[in-house]
Amino acid sequence: MDDYFYMREAINEAKLARLEDEVPIGCVIVKDEKIIARSHNYTYKGKSALKHAEILAIDRASKYIGDFRLEDCTMYVTMEPCSMCAGAIINSRIKRLVIALADVKRGACGSNTNITGDRSQLHYLDAEFGIMREESLEILQSFFKKLREKRKRDSCQ
Ligand SMILES: [Zn+2]
Repeated sequence: MDDYFYMREAINEAKLARLEDEVPIGCVIVKDEKIIARSHNYTYKGKSALKHAEILAIDRASKYIGDFRLEDCTMYVTMEPCSMCAGAIINSRIKRLVIALADVKRGACGSNTNITGDRSQLHYLDAEFGIMREESLEILQSFFKKLREKRKRDSCQ
């Protein structure tokens, strides 16, 4: 299994989110080459700003392992985590972070701010960007295009 295999699984999660009218961001966490947690955004249906794909995946992986420390785990996520998720990634001590698409506006892993790479903290990591970027971008763009069209239709009625 390589990075593409796992990122493809994260992309599949993003597609599931899109089917549920959630912002299509997907995430998987891998330990010893096995996917131990998978998730996608669930903020609308879950009625909670906390239900980002990364937070849900960290929670599931911690329950699976039975420890809050995810020290030997890699996270694959389709878009750069926000500041909340970046904090959770560091607190859970995830070892490696692989991101498909950078988020210049809100990304907190090097694009806007760099919470995950902050050397002044006890735990930090350097995020790896760009794998399957185009696929992730296409899913997000199609989602927001559809949303804009729906809003336009609704405002015309
Ligand atoms: Zn987030």
